[in-house]
Amino acid sequence: MGMAYLAASLEWKYLVPVAWLLGGAANCNLQLAMHEISHNLAFKATTATGLALNRALSIAANLPLGIPAAISFRKYHMEHHRYQGHDVVDVDIPCEWEGWFFTSPLKKLCWVMLQPAFYALRPLFTYPLPMQGLEVVNIAACLAFDFAIYFAWGVKAVAYLLMGTLLGMGLHPTAFHFISEHCVFVEGHETYSYYGPLNAIMCAPLPPPSSQGLARKQLGRFYVR
Ligand SMILES: [Zn+2]
Repeated sequence: MGMAYLAASLEWKYLVPVAWLLGGAANCNLQLAMHEISHNLAFKATTATGLALNRALSIAANLPLGIPAAISFRKYHMEHHRYQGHDVVDVDIPCEWEGWFFTSPLKKLCWVMLQPAFYALRPLFTYPLPMQGLEVVNIAACLAFDFAIYFAWGVKAVAYLLMGTLLGMGLHPTAFHFISEHCVFVEGHETYSYYGPLNAIMCAPLPPPSSQGLARKQLGRFYVR
């Protein structure tokens, strides 16, 4: 948020690359945090209060993204894990037509840049689920936050947040996990782990601490962290 405040005083020619580089990394971190919280890893989920706190924190983490996503993401993400790799129900993976249309390097580049659009629109066309009450709360909270930032710091601060989300989900080093997690390069193997240097600054998805020991035992040398 400090960067959004500072960005308000930048010229557009500096604002765009700063939003891409720094805003993209920061917002990607928040998206990964939203992922962890969607699995109820921030608060113990054994009580109704714990569940409510997880949902509330996910909406709070969503605010600097400028675009409401936390609750909708969770709705579809649970299906992603339940039916991983299913062509229709798992909306995290590209549709069949994306596979046969985006084949040349130039088309693939466009596909990578348009990833935020695909993530937002794919579920609406392939597997629309009913709107939940909390999604409305999520949308209202994000819009109120955007207007508050606009009135406090101006349009450039809002633009910084939005560009960080949209550009950061596209052609950005921290966004490549979308590809490694959701594209099949070897038949029957949909997801790939990343253990490179970006994990030092990114909120990398990990098993909850309570199950990391078990994961190490079961996966042996394949489990690195
Ligand atoms: Zn997940």
